[in-house]
Amino acid sequence: MSDWEYRLEFAQQLDRQDPLRTFREQFFIPQVEGRPAIYFCGNSLGLQPKNAAAYLEQELEKWRALGVEGHFRGEHPWFSYHHWFKKPLAHLVGAYPDEVVAMNSLTVNLHLLMVSFYRPTPQRYKILCEAGAFPSDYYVIESQLQFHGFDPEEGMVEVFPRAGERILRTEDIVAKIEEVGSQLALVLFPGVQYYTGQYFDLPAITRAAHKVGAVAGFDLAHAVGNVPLRLHDWDVDFAAWCSYKYLNSGPGSVGGAFVHRRWHQQKDLPRFAGWWGYPEEKRFEMKKGFIPMEGVDSWQLSNAPIFSMAVHRAALEIFEAAGIERLRQKSEQLTGFLEFVIRTAVQRNPALEVEIITPSDPQQRGCQLSLFFHRGGQSVIQQLRQSGVIVDWREPNVMRVAPVPLYNTFEEVFRFGTLLEQVEVTEEG
Ligand SMILES: *Cc1c(COP(=O)(O)O)cnc(C)c1O
Repeated sequence: MSDWEYRLEFAQQLDRQDPLRTFREQFFIPQVEGRPAIYFCGNSLGLQPKNAAAYLEQELEKWRALGVEGHFRGEHPWFSYHHWFKKPLAHLVGAYPDEVVAMNSLTVNLHLLMVSFYRPTPQRYKILCEAGAFPSDYYVIESQLQFHGFDPEEGMVEVFPRAGERILRTEDIVAKIEEVGSQLALVLFPGVQYYTGQYFDLPAITRAAHKVGAVAGFDLAHAVGNVPLRLHDWDVDFAAWCSYKYLNSGPGSVGGAFVHRRWHQQKDLPRFAGWWGYPEEKRFEMKKGFIPMEGVDSWQLSNAPIFSMAVHRAALEIFEAAGIERLRQKSEQLTGFLEFVIRTAVQRNPALEVEIITPSDPQQRGCQLSLFFHRGGQSVIQQLRQSGVIVDWREPNVMRVAPVPLYNTFEEVFRFGTLLEQVEVTEEG
């Protein structure tokens, strides 16, 4: 859609036509000085679903009333609490239910999965990632290399954008994979890049990795709940994600993991095991000698963190009701409108020296746009905050703006534009 209009009534009209508009009512919108903020920070911490407290209270009540009996009694016994998550997670990442599990947190899951899927040999040991990866992912790769006795300087291969460019070309990623070739053990890439907002071509990266005999794993922190995924069909080997960004499940809430069915019968995979990965029907026989249960659940270590899972459950029910495909449709519109509004505001306010570094092709991005400020970015963000806009800043000079289809509106996007249009740009000291 390119016949956008820079008018409040136009934005309000789009909101009235939006089939998902009522979902906003299911969330608490933070306030700034007594008024609802324009919250474009769902890429960092999603908003609280209104039903979260009731779901949490239900488990607190079960604990109060039943004590240890809550593991096997009540409406959703804790012993099997995590089973419920399989269907909604399978829908979100495009997987079979036995390929997904809610457990641990993101960085922990990356390490656990790399125990199984990063199995270097003296000839094949390198790990490929993107330049400018999220720090935790860098540390995972560095420490895994060191753990296996390799020098991270040598073992980690980064793909850089071309000179003068800020995003990666798929052909360059594929070329790098081919170049490292028989030395490449693992490709660990994000789904959506946290800084630039670029949505990578996961099937192409996976195909290229497999072609040289490497494993393909993905960090879906900024992809899950943002773009529809088809991990199984794309033949992705493993993936991990967190639930507090687009999945709205609360700070530090339980993460998730995917392991392709292709790997489920390989019982000789090395792993770090715990009792929650042992077959359920025999778990309480308390025997020595780990046997992995069926599917990705065998990677579980501990009994589930019920309180964070209760909130996760409340949040995923909303995704089930809205549907990730419908959310994506709205998201493309909302972000397309944001792009138009920003370009218009920048034209009208010549003091703004800003460039959108996120790809303009909707197929290569999720909902986030990253604005690169050549000057004065700090002063802009200060004024936006004073006007009730919550966006985030990533050093050295990028403002990330993420309109989320579950709770953001076209009107908010338009208002953001008018604020940007009026902002005064000053050099910070
Ligand atoms: C948010 C994010 C993380 C955070 O990791 P936690 O283990 O959940 O603290 C890791 N990697 C990427 C790419 C992220 O965007």
